[in-house]
Amino acid sequence: MKYYILFGPPGAGKGTQASSMVEKYNLCHLSTGELLRKEIAAGSSLGIKAKSLIDAGELVPDEIVEDMIKNEFETVKDVDGFLLDGFPRTIAQAEALDKILAAKNEKVTSVISIMIPDELIKERIKHRAAIEGRADDAKDSTINNRIKTYHEKTEPLISFYKKAQAYKEVDGTGSIEGVREKVNALMDKF
Ligand code: ADP
Repeated sequence: MKYYILFGPPGAGKGTQASSMVEKYNLCHLSTGELLRKEIAAGSSLGIKAKSLIDAGELVPDEIVEDMIKNEFETVKDVDGFLLDGFPRTIAQAEALDKILAAKNEKVTSVISIMIPDELIKERIKHRAAIEGRADDAKDSTINNRIKTYHEKTEPLISFYKKAQAYKEVDGTGSIEGVREKVNALMDKF
């Protein structure tokens, strides 16, 4: 099995690129943000707990997303691998992922990182807010806190994965098609 991580700040275009990657490489797209939004829509106790954190631009507790990912790994069959989107988002989550995979004699295949500057993050999220209507895309204070959370808690993963020699970066500022070509060129190496 392949275990790819799609990495990058909020609004980098991870979800957009993921949809064509999963088809081309027969992967299961696992977005922890999507899984959490499903829980919120279902009104589960987990969803209720997650909603206030997400709306504030904070991360949900590591154990919640780690359990979700573990569960998906166990239940999804008939794919060549997984494309993790929005997970891991902290060093603790990355270490948990390594453990989960080690127990299956597997490891992270590669980290594909889509990078955009903070100003473009804000522009992209504002544009998306008008289309998708996500509550966490609507308020400036939430967007700013998501960017801060990204820099503080998620960005340290770059050196974590560089050390493991699994890290590849593409410039995410171009067109969807342009970024897709760069992503595919990297994916074809694994
Ligand atoms: P984006 O990439 O635009 O930030 P996501 O859909 O990946 O959006 O995530 C939305 C929100 O869900 C995050 O801001 C965070 O509150 C929560 N979330 C998603 N994934 C994780 C994770 N791995 N750990 C903690 N919280 C998460």
